[in-house]
Parts: sequence; C-alpha cells; structure tokens
Amino acid sequence: MHVVSSSSVGLPASVCIQNIERLEFAISSSEDGIWEYNIPSNTTYVSKRWLEIIGYNEDEYESSVDAWKKLLHPDDAEMAFSVLHNSIINKVESAHVRYRVRHKKGHWIWIYDRAKILFDPAGEPLIVAGFRTDITKQIELETHKEELATIVQNSSVEIYIIDAITLHYLYANDGALKSLGYTLEELQKLTVIDINPEITFDQINIFRQYLENITPELTNISHHKRKNGTIYPVQASVHKLTYQGKTAVVIFDTDITELTFAQDQLRHLATHDPLTGLPNRVLFHDRLQMGIKQTRRNEEKIALLFVDLDNFKQVNDSLGHSIGDLLLVKVAKRLQSLLRESDTIARMGGDEFNILLDNLENTDDTINVAQKLINAFKEPFMIHDHLLHITLSIGIAIYPDDGKTPESLLKNADIAMYKAKMEGRNTYQFYTNEMSEKAFERVVMENALRIAIKEKQFSVFYQPQINIVSDSLVGMEALVRWNHPTLGVISPDAFIPLCEETGLVQEIDFFVFESVIEQQVKWQTQGIDTPTIAVNISAKTLAYCFLVSELRTLINFHHCKPTCIAIEVTESHIMTNPKQAIKVLGELKALGLEISVDDFGTGYSSLSYLKKLPIDKLKIDQSFIHDIPYDEDDMAITKTIITLAQNLKLEVIAEGVETFEQQQFLIECGCLLAQGYLYSKPLNLDQINKILRTKQQWIKEQKN
Ligand code: C2E
Ligand code: CA
Ligand code: CA
Repeated sequence: MHVVSSSSVGLPASVCIQNIERLEFAISSSEDGIWEYNIPSNTTYVSKRWLEIIGYNEDEYESSVDAWKKLLHPDDAEMAFSVLHNSIINKVESAHVRYRVRHKKGHWIWIYDRAKILFDPAGEPLIVAGFRTDITKQIELETHKEELATIVQNSSVEIYIIDAITLHYLYANDGALKSLGYTLEELQKLTVIDINPEITFDQINIFRQYLENITPELTNISHHKRKNGTIYPVQASVHKLTYQGKTAVVIFDTDITELTFAQDQLRHLATHDPLTGLPNRVLFHDRLQMGIKQTRRNEEKIALLFVDLDNFKQVNDSLGHSIGDLLLVKVAKRLQSLLRESDTIARMGGDEFNILLDNLENTDDTINVAQKLINAFKEPFMIHDHLLHITLSIGIAIYPDDGKTPESLLKNADIAMYKAKMEGRNTYQFYTNEMSEKAFERVVMENALRIAIKEKQFSVFYQPQINIVSDSLVGMEALVRWNHPTLGVISPDAFIPLCEETGLVQEIDFFVFESVIEQQVKWQTQGIDTPTIAVNISAKTLAYCFLVSELRTLINFHHCKPTCIAIEVTESHIMTNPKQAIKVLGELKALGLEISVDDFGTGYSSLSYLKKLPIDKLKIDQSFIHDIPYDEDDMAITKTIITLAQNLKLEVIAEGVETFEQQQFLIECGCLLAQGYLYSKPLNLDQINKILRTKQQWIKEQKN
C-alpha cells in the first residue's frame, strides 16, 4: 500500500486511509490502479498498481494532479482533464474517460479511467477517486478488428454471410453489393436461391452435408444473378461460423468471368481449327463418339463423309500458301453452307474435311448430300485474281454397317475416299469390304515410302542406250531403285504410281536428278567420257512451279554441263496439260537440257501439239516393240512413229529391245538408237563404271 499524501479536508485522514486501504486490499487482485484526489487539501493518492501500469517505482513518482497531467498524451490531455474537471464543476457524481499516458519507457498506453466524486452536504466536491485500467491491448484489438472490418467491407472479393438455416443473407460487403447491384437492405430480403438461380438440389444437399460434418471449407463454382438480370460465374469458398448468434456461413466469391472466358478460349483453341474456325480432329472425334452412342439407342444410322480436295496441293505449290489458306477458308464456308445446323463438319488437317450426318433414315439422304457437295464445287472460287476450279473426292462410311467405332469409321471413310480418287476424282464412293485390303497395303506402302524418302533409301541404276549401227554408247537412262531395308530392291513400277498419286514422286525425281548430275561431274573430273543421261520426270514434278528454277540451281551448284542431261516425260503426262508442258519443257530446253518424249505412241498426242513441243527425241513405247515381228499392227505403228520423227527432225529411240529380230526391224525402218535387255538391263554404279571404262569392247561382247 502506498500513500503519497494522506491529509484530506472534511474526512479524518485515518478514515480516508483506512477506507482506501480496505478498498485497495479488496481489489488488490484486480488489474486496476486506484487514485484519489482530495480537493480541499489538493493532495493526491495513487496505488502501487497504477505505478506498475505506468512503469514507475514508488520512489520515482511523486503523485500530483500536475504529475498526472504531464503523463497525458498531448492529443488527449485537454479532453481528459476537462471531462473530470467538468464533472466536478457540474456536480456530476461519476465520469469515465479514455486517454493515453506515457509509460516510463516512452511508449503510450491506453487508460480507461472511471471516477466517482464525493460531495459534502453543501454540495461542494470533496474527493474524486477512481479506477484506472490499462486497456492498451483491448484498444489494439479493437483497432485491429476495425481495420479487418474495413478490409472485408472494401474487398473486391464478394463476401457474404448467410444464415445456414434460412439461407437468408445476413451480411454482404461492398464488393458483393457492387457486383450484384443490390443494397444491403434489399439483399437481406433475399436468399441464396434468389441469387444463384442455377443452384441444383444436389448442390443444396452437398451444402447441408457440409454443415453437418467437420469439413472446414467447401468450394464450388456457381452463377450469380445480378439485380439487372445478367448472370456471371463465381468461384465460391464457404466457411462455417457463428454470426450474431446464428449458425451461419461466410462465402467468399470470386467473379471468374475473365477466367472462364480464358478457359473457354483455350478450350475453343484446343478443339477448333484456327484457320477455318471449324471443329478440329479432336472435337470431331468426340462428336462422332457421341453420335454413335445416341444412334445405338435409336437404332438409326449415321454417315461419315471423308472429303478431300482434288489438286489442292497444286494450288498451294503454284500460288503459295496464303492463297491456299484463303481457298481453304472459302471451301470451309461453302461446305458449311450446304449442311444442316445439326450436321458436324470439321477440318481434319490439310485439305481434308470430315462431315457427320446423323439421324439418317436411308442411304439416299447421304447420296443427296454427297452429290450436292460435288455439284456446289462446279462453281469456281475467286481468290484475288485467280479463278480456281476445285473438285471434291468423297469417301463415305456408314455406322454401324462399315464400322462400330470412330476409328474404324474414319479409316474406312478414308479408304473409300482413296477409291473415289482412283475413280478419277470429283466423285463419291461408299466404303465396301473389298476396298479395305488394298487400302491397307497402300497405307503401309505410303508410310514406308515417306520413311524411305527421309532416310534416302533410293539409288540410281543406269541402262545403256546404243547406236545399233555404229555400236556406240549414245546415252543412258537413270532408273530409280528402292533399297528397302527388309524387302530388298523394289522396282519403280511397284511404287512410282503411288508416289505420283501422293505427290511423293517430286522428291524422288529431284533425288535422281541431283544424283545424276553429281555422278556426271564425278565422271568428268575422273576423265571418263560419258554420254547424255536421261532422267524421268513425272507429270506432278513437271507441274511444280519452281521446277525450272530449282533444276537450274542444282546444275549451277554442281557445275554440271546441262547438255549432258536429258529429261524424259511420258507422252500421256504431257497431254494432261499440254499448254503447261510446252511452256515448262521450253524453259528446260532453254536451260540446255535435252527433252525426250517417253512411251511415245500411247498418249494420243495430236500432231499440232507435237509440232509445238520443244523436244529432241521420241522414245517408242516398249509395248510396240515387244511383239515385233509377230504383230503387224505394232510393226506398222513403230514404222509410223519412226517416219513421224524423221519428218519432225526428231531423234527416235526404241525401248524394250530384247531380240535380234526386233533390232533388225528397227535398222530396216531407220531407227538407229535402242535400249533394252538385248544390250543391257539397268545396272548399278559399279557395273556401269566397268562399262564406261571399256565401252567399245563391252558393246561388242553384248552383241555377240
Ligand atoms: P520407263 O521410263 O519406260 O523405263 C523403262 C523401263 O523398262 C525400266 O523399268 C526398264 O528397266 C524397263 N526395260 C528396259 N529394257 C527392257 C527390256 O528389254 N524389256 C523389258 N521388259 N523391260 C525393259 P523400270 O526401271 O522398272 O522402270 C519402270 C518405270 O518406272 C519407268 O518406265 C518409269 O516410268 C518409272 N521410273 C523409273 N525411274 C523413275 C524416276 O526416277 N522418276 C520417275 N518419275 N519415274 C521413274
Ligand atoms: Ca523413261
Ligand atoms: Ca518408257
């Protein structure tokens, strides 16, 4: 017990002290400090606890009103003093006030001061006494709470508190009210179901279960309906709490409109073709699978149309990819415009489109659609200044007849499409079982060929061409061979036709061309005199728009004399597009290359074109030579071709010469050049090297 001053007016000091002592004893267990101010004597008393609160020892603090005033925070001093002072003046019996005082260590502490004022019978104030409580912690907590409440209130995350039983809104922060467009009063009249119109029974059940078990958090995605009726997606995180004595939940909702938009876009990108905007392979597969599932139930049929553009590659190669892309976009639009809403059309890649027709009653419907598509492509496409004629080849597979899985339907529709191509394009074909085997071989072969091209599994054989009168080597024909890793050497008749269909032939032709010029240069540097070597060029290669420039580049790169190379193009290939052939062959001839027409006699070339073609040589097709001297017609044709060549001042060579009778007939007709097994089969490089070293000797040996 610490008495700073014990004299007081009006009350004997002993009474006062005794009272205080008792009081102090009574509340010694409390945390409050006690003070007393005796007004008449102007003395003060403070308890030990008060000194503890402000950090002083008994001998360090001399109690007085001024000492107390000095401790007060400048912002609070006037207020604190006047509250007490005014209470005394106004004769109010009690007062309480909060203020800050400086702790001995220098920091501020919050005090809650409750004072009682004792008046004498005349109404004059005698004693003011009170309790002081350190409420610093409490104030800090309150401030913290206020700060938190402000954060919650201002947060852009939507925060709601909901009565867990009635589902009514009890609280919503500014973010929530702003998003929804309601005032708090309006919202408090609503329930969760009003704001989440798409909420399902399942979701409410999950919510109820959540309330009953101890899971701390529940998350889900739902949709909020604004006051103006618009709807937006939110991601909700729900936590249990007690609010205003009620079982409640607090819900933190984040508007995920942008996130959902981004997700939707990603999903769209993953399932659609960026060029045409059509569904892509992935989505088509899904739809096909769904279609199959539904159709299985309804016992109806669906048709899968595998649509491939004819000659698209040519457009791409000759006019460039940007024109090709524009064409694909227009093609997609045209196809789409011909279909029903419910049909699915997808771009599978390149120039391939797939169409799914469901709810079919009979195959006539499919035929009608296929025919409609083909007819619609009679009208050309106008792209920039180019009028492009494009046709379609369509393969059709029907579920469940031609396949029960998406994979088998896709495969069989693809097979049927190839059949349509082989039938001359611009047509449709239904899948039949017989197609499958051939197509399988094709697919295997095509894949193997692609690998072969990548791995350069090809080599060049050379077949000598002879002047049969002077017995001299006048030329060689370069003939490609495929050295298959397991099947061995494969002859070109077995793979060139497929390569021509698929466009792979270009790569092969270029490979042979480059191999030949490399070899020619090698022989020249070795001082070996070689004749002109003929390279076969297919129609596809002839149509390639950079053919001339690329061949020129190769010739220049290898420093090869162009006159030692000849180009062979078959008559029928020339006749597929004679105008283009005249132009391209003219440019090749201008490069210095010799030009031969291969398999002559089979391509029905008109004389008028033949005159215009910049050619040097005709090669009589081996089918006419084969039956000499037994087939009169063949002999007549051979003779005519030789005469024709002489008239046009062209060289003429017979191929496939196997017998002396054939050779004799040719000499009689005036055809002095020949190629055939009678002289030599196509030979590999080693064999041809030997021949080149001992040319004359070798020819004599062959002929004897
Ligand atoms: P082709 O251009 O008419 O070539 C002549 C073919 O007749 C060669 O067959 C040759 O081996 C064969 N042959 C030569 N003399 C005789 C003979 O006396 N009797 C018989 N029965 N056949 C003879 P090969 O090498 O199998 O080539 C077949 C076809 O493949 C070629 O016919 C040509 O159209 C094509 N081909 C070969 N190499 C290439 C190439 O590099 N590019 C292109 N585009 N096609 C090529
Ligand atoms: Ca040839
Ligand atoms: Ca030939």
